[in-house]
Amino acid sequence: MLTWEMIREMDRSKIDFQSHTATHPHLLQISYERIKYEIISSRAVIEEHLGKRSNIFCYPYAEYDERIINVLKGEGVIAATAEHPDKENLYEIRRVSSAHLATDLAFKTALAGGFPLFYSCKYLAEKLWSSRSYNNISCSREKEAG
Ligand SMILES: [Zn+2]
Repeated sequence: MLTWEMIREMDRSKIDFQSHTATHPHLLQISYERIKYEIISSRAVIEEHLGKRSNIFCYPYAEYDERIINVLKGEGVIAATAEHPDKENLYEIRRVSSAHLATDLAFKTALAGGFPLFYSCKYLAEKLWSSRSYNNISCSREKEAG
């Protein structure tokens, strides 16, 4: 666990710390007032300890909708990160989860700029695996064979 002293030192060394809510809730499952509290209070703590405004936000669990984006805009947050982004939208900037950087190879690949390709392939594989069309293709092949 990092101390605020460590975080201040890292922040001075160009590692940027931004808001990710106060209690890491599933934002789609809580009230509008609670969403505002989570965003406002987490930004206030960063401002208090680092002496700067947190203008970028990271959605817990990468879960968000227009209601949450509107709160961010209303509070002056200029951008947010999502897992499967629309590159044209500042509130859906691509992020890489730290869970995907657990090995030295993954971390070095990310630093070398190769991670977006890996991540895109992983996303495509997940989409194919879970999509109905994939199941239909399997069924069609079984019918053809049978
Ligand atoms: Zn998180």
